[in-house]
This record gives sequence, structure tokens and C-alpha cells, in this order.
Amino acid sequence: MIVRPGDARYAELAERGYNNRFVATPDEIWLVHCASQVEKAVNQAVAKNQRITVRSGGHCFEGLVDDPQFRLLVDLSEMKNVTFDRTMNAFAVEAGARLGEVYKALYEGWGVTVPGGVCPEVGVGGHVSGGGYGPLSRRHGLVVDHLYAVEVVVADRGGKARTVIATRNAGDPNRDLWWAHTGGGGGGFGIVTRFWFRTPGASGGASALLPQPPARMRKTIVTWPWAQLTEAGFTRMVLNHGAWHAANSAPGSVYSAMHSSLQLHSSLAGTVQLEIRMDATLKDTAKLHDDYIRAVNAGVGLEPTVDVTEGTWLEIALEPTPSYGEYARQKSMGGHLRKPLTEAQVGAIYRSLNDPNHFGAGLVYLAAYGCKINTVESSATAIPQRDSVLKLWYSNNWADPAQDETEVGWLRTLRKNVHGATGGFPVPNGRQDGGYINYPDVDMRDPVQNTSGVPWYSIIWKDNYPRLQRVKNTYDPKNVFRHALSLDPA
Ligand SMILES: Cc1cc2nc3c(=O)[nH]c(=O)nc-3n(C[C@H](O)[C@H](O)[C@H](O)COP(=O)(O)OP(=O)(O)OC[C@H]3O[C@@H](n4cnc5c(N)ncnc54)[C@H](O)[C@@H]3O)c2cc1C
Repeated sequence: MIVRPGDARYAELAERGYNNRFVATPDEIWLVHCASQVEKAVNQAVAKNQRITVRSGGHCFEGLVDDPQFRLLVDLSEMKNVTFDRTMNAFAVEAGARLGEVYKALYEGWGVTVPGGVCPEVGVGGHVSGGGYGPLSRRHGLVVDHLYAVEVVVADRGGKARTVIATRNAGDPNRDLWWAHTGGGGGGFGIVTRFWFRTPGASGGASALLPQPPARMRKTIVTWPWAQLTEAGFTRMVLNHGAWHAANSAPGSVYSAMHSSLQLHSSLAGTVQLEIRMDATLKDTAKLHDDYIRAVNAGVGLEPTVDVTEGTWLEIALEPTPSYGEYARQKSMGGHLRKPLTEAQVGAIYRSLNDPNHFGAGLVYLAAYGCKINTVESSATAIPQRDSVLKLWYSNNWADPAQDETEVGWLRTLRKNVHGATGGFPVPNGRQDGGYINYPDVDMRDPVQNTSGVPWYSIIWKDNYPRLQRVKNTYDPKNVFRHALSLDPA
């Protein structure tokens, strides 16, 4: 079905993107149901010289889809089947499915899951292609560590569309196309219509081919009120948290059963929070949980409130992410930390969160990483970060378009002050390990913003970039699939 401006359904489909700063204005929105319809869309776009883009879950933080240059938008939201494919001996997931739909179908059908992101509304199309991580990643690795194959519609040198199935099998001539979808990012190689998942080395019935999540999960919110938090207490907490992750993120750690995110909100929001999600069925769950909170809070100077809930794994996994409501304009940037933030960096964060000229919902988010994630070689997947202990995300949300410059500026100042020694970004070195394409920031491509001397693509993909570029040359030689942060053909 093709929806055009003037159609009652147009606005809802065009405005499906997460960030209200960016608006899509395509001439045509193709709501597709199979790869052959996607091929038609690609053939038309090439023939008519229309810029083409693709949306799955619509949770992109940047304007990589919502950009007026795109005249044909392929919308995969109706392609969300999750089945067990006997021929491939793997779970087939259509690329328009949302994580929550995938978790539900895999768990209710077979008792298994993939270690994807925390937000059930995120779509697999972008999330998997970018190398997604989530609450089970310290135990089971990244979602792409379980990716067996992809079905991708690509355009050849003559611009003709074709559908390629690329697997991780050693003898597969299209193996590099599979590899590019283990973190190379969405929208830069073709349009993925289907993913297949099976854990490497797994055998037996379907229920043995992917990880089984814990039967029950504990979810805890630890809250410190800003009103009682001194700068010394704040600094202590963030340093404690970093030191704890440096000490407890080795493969095989008992704490691989626990995920957490330290959420440092702007002081206007009133609180700083630590969200913990952990396997509730361990003999030592309560002790491990309490020890962790005690370690983070040591010397902070106040007792936080600790709100513990428990539920089945699925109940917790399907809890919606709290909405920012009208605060739907956004700017963010993400990265990886090999070592904890330094005291000077924590000081820069403290000053930004208490900036009296900032009225947005600012956030510095430090998510647990490491353990199983770090058992994989850096070149085995396109996402190269395999020895970090924390994922980092700077974010800001606000409502009023008139505040765009101020609030984007707030995030830039925060980022520059924390990473001033490395040109304003967490460029790879001994302490930090570059960016993350699923937390995109086009500033990386701007030499005024990125003064590190390290190109944006090396910040994200490090030494994997040349191979990704070869995949681009082979499968998208005409650069049909491109956006503000896709890689260029050589
Ligand atoms: C609230 C929220 C929570 C998040 N939590 C996590 C988390 O816990 N862990 C994590 O790793 N990430 C997380 N993310 C980031 C998320 O993984 C990325 O934003 C992801 O790219 C979104 O995918 P999507 O399909 O929903 O987005 P879309 O906006 O549809 O697409 C994002 C990008 O992928 C491309 N793309 C989409 N579908 C396809 C396709 N079928 N084929 C080829 N390219 C495609 C698009 O063109 C675009 O460039 C979160 C994001 C949000 C907004």
C-alpha cells in the first residue's frame, strides 16, 4: 500500500519518528509486507531518482530517516512476524517487529529470547543492525552475537534491486553482508526485511537454540534526591559506580546476572537514580543486589530510597519506557568506557546538570556493559567495542522549538567538557572506546564539533571501517542507501 500526502493515514505514518526536531515529508510511504514489495520500491526510487529511506521501529535519535531529502519512505511496521524457520534451523524475525513483540513471541512460543534493548518499543530493523545491547547482555552478549542471517534488499551497479540472504556460515559468499549487519548500522547497505537468530554452537530443539531468560527478574529503582546531594556526594557516587564496574565486569563474573543504569538527571528533575535489573532466582540475589547498592552509595552521605519489585522476566521486559511527554525534542550522543570516568570528568557532568541556564530534561546515562560482551573478538562483529565496562549516553529532551539552540548547546558543552582532552568525543584510547551508531550524533561528522582529528567513522567502527566500506562497495555501489551517518563507498 502506498500512502501519499492528503491521505488521512499520512500524518501518523510520516510523524512516527521519535525525535520531534526532525520531520519526514516523503511523497510516498510504502507500507510493505514482503521483500518483493521492497524491491519494487527500490527499483522505482532508482528509476525516478527519488531518495529512499526505511523506517522500522522509528526510534532513531537523529534525523537519519526524518529528513526532507527523502522522497520515498519504506515503512516496515507491518512486517513483524516471529516464527521458527525449520529450513534455516533458526528463529526468523521480520525487521519491522518491535523488541517487545519479539520478546513476547520468542518467550511464549519457545521459552527463549535475544539479549536486546531495554525499551520494548524500539524496532529490530535499526536496533539489530546497529549492534544492540540490553539487560541480558552481560550474561548473553550483544543481540548480534546471536544473529545467524539477514535478508536484505540491495541495489546493484545498474540500480536494480535484488534480495540477498546472507548468513554467518564460513562458506557463504555473502557472509560479509551478514557481518555488516552485526553493528554497521541501519540504512547504509540496503533494506533488511528479515533477521534469523541462533546462538553460535547451539544444537537440539528450537528451545535450545537461543538463551533462556531467568524465570523471574528483580527490578529496583534506587533514588537520591538532588536537594540533599552535595557535589562531594555526587562525585563519590559516580566514582564508586565506575570503580565497581571496573572490578565486576570480567567474563564469568557472578554479576553477569545483573544489569544496571546510573541515570544522572539534571538537578531540575529532582533526583538521581540507579535502575537495577537482575536474575531474581539466584541463591544470592538479595545479597549481591544489596552489596552493589552499598558499594555505589559508600560515602555519598545520604540514604537513598530503594524501591524493589519482582515479576516474570516477560513482565519486566515489556514494561514501557517512561515517556518524555511533550519533551519530545531531543539531542544525544553515546559511547563506551574502558575505564571509569575521572574525577575531573565527573566534575564537568555535575556542573552541566546544575547549569542554571538549562531547562531541558538532561541525562547522563551509564549502562552496565562488559562480561559476556567482552568474550568476542573486536573484528568478529562490525561493532568493535569488546573491552568496555560501561556504555555512555548523553541526552537532553525539551518541548519548545525556540529552545533548540540552547538545549542542543547544553549537550554539546557537556560532551566537550567531559571529552575536552580528546576533541570533544570519546575517541578510542586507553580509557574510552568510541561511539555507538545506535546512539548517533551527526556532530561527529562536523569538524567544528569534532576537533579530535579522528574521523567520525573511526570513532564508531574503529579498525572495522575498511571492511565495512568494502561491503558498501560490493552491495551498494551506487550509494542508493545513504543518510547523514552512513558510510561512503570508497
Ligand atoms: C527510548 C529508547 C530506548 C533505547 N534503548 C536502547 C537499548 O536499551 N539498547 C540499545 O542498544 N539501543 C537502544 N536504543 C537505541 C536504538 O537501538 C536505536 O535507536 C535503533 O536504531 C532504533 O531502531 P528502530 O528500528 O526503532 O529505528 P528507526 O528510526 O526505524 O531506524 C533507525 C535507523 O536504522 C535504519 N533502519 C531501520 N529499519 C531498517 C531496516 N529494516 N533495514 C535497514 N535499515 C533500517 C533507519 O533507516 C535508521 O537509519 C534506544 C532508543 C530509544 C529511543
